[in-house]
Amino acid sequence: MTHAIRVHEHGGPEKLLWEEVPRPEPKAGEVRIRQEAVGLNYIDVYFRTGLYKAPTMPFTIGMEGAGLVDAIGEGVTDIKIGDRVAYASGPMGAYAQSRVNKADRVVVVPDGISSETAAAMMLQGMTAQYLLHSTYPVKPGQTIVVHAAAGGVGLILVQWAKALGCTVIGTVSTPEKAALAKAHGADHVVLTSEDLPAAVKRITGGAGVPVVYDSVGKDTFMASLDCLAPRGVMVSYGNASGPVTGFDLGILAAKGSLYVCRPTLGTYTTAREDLVACANSLFEVVKSGKVKINVNQRYALKDAGQAHIALEARKTTGSTVLIP
Ligand code: NDP
Repeated sequence: MTHAIRVHEHGGPEKLLWEEVPRPEPKAGEVRIRQEAVGLNYIDVYFRTGLYKAPTMPFTIGMEGAGLVDAIGEGVTDIKIGDRVAYASGPMGAYAQSRVNKADRVVVVPDGISSETAAAMMLQGMTAQYLLHSTYPVKPGQTIVVHAAAGGVGLILVQWAKALGCTVIGTVSTPEKAALAKAHGADHVVLTSEDLPAAVKRITGGAGVPVVYDSVGKDTFMASLDCLAPRGVMVSYGNASGPVTGFDLGILAAKGSLYVCRPTLGTYTTAREDLVACANSLFEVVKSGKVKINVNQRYALKDAGQAHIALEARKTTGSTVLIP
């Protein structure tokens, strides 16, 4: 037997239950991973509360982890027993001491990157990768806005955008988070209590920015649009404050022929070769030292509920790992 965090009904952090479960056996095309670290992500909150629907109930929650392959199913050729692997997408089931996953969803972690770092960075880091290189490929010299700049994805976005030659305006809720974002390269930090569009206009000499990366959703959507230059791109990639609904398309015309998109990592890594390329790009930038992964909180996996409380209360910075 082994242990996992299971959800039997949607609700608060108290619905994350530490249970004894049978150790899973890999089927054809699957690998079993003895997990060394599990990544905490905001999407776990959405699945816990029911904002996003899990395919089954009860379910083992979690998207991201890293560890050692200790069994492989029939037909698995490119991953072998003993490989250290990581993953960052469905099928869910990461909050577990031992889990099976599809072999084509895991990547081998290179030497020099610990399992803890891999579990902390795969989902947030691959998100930063596709946002900056594919959704809106930034160019050197551009000024961009990054919301929640001291958070998991945010702190990686700030560093990576700087490495690509951008000027970064970050938003954060506290002076402590502002100091952290600045220490990681943010050129300007605007507190959430301030008028963001006014600050952006001031910083850009009235021009606005070509892109806003917005993970906050409901609370920041309109202000983000008001930061954009004509024909600018609003990348709405998360709902930390709640989802954006009931949006009048005419607003995009009135505010300057703007674009809005709502991308997800899953779409950008559906094909195995895209997943591997995205992961390799992340491994490279981390190994180069241009992007540092900040594991600023650690919890025992059985205490995942406490980690969710901290994340939702905006008490975390950088990345958080759960140790099985
Ligand atoms: P973060 O570490 O960024 O934590 C969320 C942060 O959002 C908080 O620290 C807080 O920063 C800010 N925030 C603003 N308003 C609220 C609110 N009402 N409640 C809680 N937090 C708020 O989390 P992650 O890095 O894990 O994820 C960031 C976002 O990116 C999430 O929305 C997530 O869903 C999304 N995401 C999307 C992906 C995609 O492919 N589309 C993939 C990965 C993540 P502050 O206090 O400074 O305002």
